[in-house]
Amino acid sequence: MRYWLSIVVATPAHSSVAGPLTYRSEWPLPPGSLVRVPLGKREVLGVVWELLPDSGDLPESQSKAVLGALDGLAPLSATWRRLVGFTASYYQRSLGEVALAALPPQLRELSTVQLARRLKRPVAPSPDTPNTTDLIALSAEQERAIAEFDADTRPALLFGATGSGKTEVYLRAAAKVLAGDASAQVLVMVPEINLTPQLQARFEERFAHLGKAQVVALHSGLTPAQRLKSWLAAHAGQARLVLGTRMAIFASLPNLRLIVVDEEHDPSYKQQEGARYSARDLAVYRAMIESSPDAPAASADARPEHEGKPAGICRVLLGSATPSLESWQATMVDRYQRLTMSERIGGAEQQGSLPAVRLVDMNHQPKHCTIAPPLLDAIAQRIARGEQSLIFLNRRGYAPVLACHDCGWKSECPHCSAFRVFHKIDRTLRCHHCGFTERVPRACPACGNIDIAPVGKGTERLEEHIAELLAGVTRPDGSPLRIARIDADTTRLKGALESQLASVHAREVDVLVGTQMIAKGHDFRHITLVAAINPDGALFSSDFRAPERLFGLLMQAAGRAGRDADHGEASEMWVQTFHPQHPLFGALKKHDYPTFAAQELKEREAAGMSPFGFSALVRAEARDQAVAQGFLNAAAAAAQAQQLPGIEAVTPYPAVPMTIQRVANIERAQMLVESPSRAALQRFLAAWQPLLHETRRQAEFKSLVRWAIDVDPLAI
Ligand code: ADP
Ligand code: ZN
Ligand code: ZN
Repeated sequence: MRYWLSIVVATPAHSSVAGPLTYRSEWPLPPGSLVRVPLGKREVLGVVWELLPDSGDLPESQSKAVLGALDGLAPLSATWRRLVGFTASYYQRSLGEVALAALPPQLRELSTVQLARRLKRPVAPSPDTPNTTDLIALSAEQERAIAEFDADTRPALLFGATGSGKTEVYLRAAAKVLAGDASAQVLVMVPEINLTPQLQARFEERFAHLGKAQVVALHSGLTPAQRLKSWLAAHAGQARLVLGTRMAIFASLPNLRLIVVDEEHDPSYKQQEGARYSARDLAVYRAMIESSPDAPAASADARPEHEGKPAGICRVLLGSATPSLESWQATMVDRYQRLTMSERIGGAEQQGSLPAVRLVDMNHQPKHCTIAPPLLDAIAQRIARGEQSLIFLNRRGYAPVLACHDCGWKSECPHCSAFRVFHKIDRTLRCHHCGFTERVPRACPACGNIDIAPVGKGTERLEEHIAELLAGVTRPDGSPLRIARIDADTTRLKGALESQLASVHAREVDVLVGTQMIAKGHDFRHITLVAAINPDGALFSSDFRAPERLFGLLMQAAGRAGRDADHGEASEMWVQTFHPQHPLFGALKKHDYPTFAAQELKEREAAGMSPFGFSALVRAEARDQAVAQGFLNAAAAAAQAQQLPGIEAVTPYPAVPMTIQRVANIERAQMLVESPSRAALQRFLAAWQPLLHETRRQAEFKSLVRWAIDVDPLAI
């Protein structure tokens, strides 16, 4: 017998082979099977996509045979294939690229024998008898959120203030799903690897009765072997609970019943290269197809053990104190269910336990001061009381630029349209875009003046500056003040962040200086003052999402203060600004996300921006800016000339240089494409892809341009 199969293999993003390839096989391999097939001179991993009725037009002499199947491994489910297929078409990438990138890299190298050996070590599932005796009593808001969640089937958004106990809600929702069905699986996603160990510990502790093997992690910080192990456990249904970062959305989970997306607004959920998918959006999509009875039926999906089972529902639970405006808007129109928890745990006895927000009007402070005198006073008072302060600034390094006051020379990067940042600690100028690093010159390279000086402040200089300003301030026991800094530079080494955070928790630090890295997620107990030094840039950014991100960041940062009941009432959030009247700060003062969201949504609606309009960016790179822009404009003109499907509802704007126009000597341009209709935009992009390929083959662009599409871009 001879069978014809369409098989998906890894194809480069821009190869002309975008779809599956046809192979023949002696055995009838079901869709979803993992196989080894020849591709050119190589032997590669492939996924059987479809069983073809016949070979089509392919003469048998030209077809290649499947070399072997990874048997012992159940086929990937129809839902998994549908998720991958959707991702590829929605984000305008090839099926092969998405499908193979979604599998652990080690799977590609594994022989059938090695695989069989790995699969022989599974663990017997332990009986699900959770220990319910020492569970904490839920707050009234948590009780209500859980009850409401149970009574609905829509995607849910848990709108819960920082410290309102969202994690406990996730834990209870997961526990219920796992206890209700012995094969059910839960996926919990967090934005950053940094946050997985903390959460993993909490989930492992709560689900200790399941045994360690059933709670697994999936993120890029794992070794390839660990990742494969987690993946196999999830695929085999042994792992009941998978914790991971955005990549985990593609885990093979044959019986997925709940997806939790913590901090759903976080930009880390958007992949920034290759297929630029949003794991948050895919979580909502995946929950829908996992539940949907009209998903390709179990018969097309050769998993006999699951056949005949009633289709379970898969819920998705998004959580945030400052939801993305897309999710918030979805709750306004009842597409998503909204669950609200507005009070901090323990907040009832301590009214107003969210920190008071103090805006410092920098127009009325001494010129050029970095830290206004009243803020400095407040920090000194905290130190005197033995409390901690957190000060954040969004720029690492010592100073953004080094400048010569004689001739005006500045520390520009020779390869990028950006300034190199002065890092005092190793006396280097470092480009944060291309990494180009040089020792600081002894004198101005342009005029020889030896008096070159830093302009502006990064975290490193801020740390030094604060030490100077607070010289003479001592701790309650008279010992000297301790200042620490946490940012990408101080945490480069493995384990550095953990040990620095530990010293903050152990109260070995009085003033913590850092980037937004410290404003996220960490549960600091003794910080009673949080200060944002210079947040104004985001108010007037060309990026329409900048205010949303700033508001989220400030709310998050505020959430770091006063988490310990001992200090609750006295905690404060200070914001230095030249625009204290800005409505964003008005809403911040009241910790009022809904008001902020209403203001922003009104503006976005008027401007036809997300979530009221849809957009994609096409980015092009070339040695020459004119070539990059010329390519984009030519492709858009061709789309107009040919009246591509969807174009009547789609607006392509002229190509412009990207904000950071040049990186590592490559010129970058982008073109924004907008539409009030998601469907029209999708139709247009699908039709435009071949034209973009064709345009690139024209003589003036041939092998000079690289391009990629970013659908639903986060920043424009
Ligand atoms: P969020 O994620 O909403 O910011 P967390 O889940 O971190 O909040 O909860 C804040 C703190 O409150 C944590 O230390 C948590 O252990 C504690 N907590 C949560 N729920 C309860 C409860 N019902 N009773 C007592 N403490 C709780
Ligand atoms: Zn000079
Ligand atoms: Zn550079």
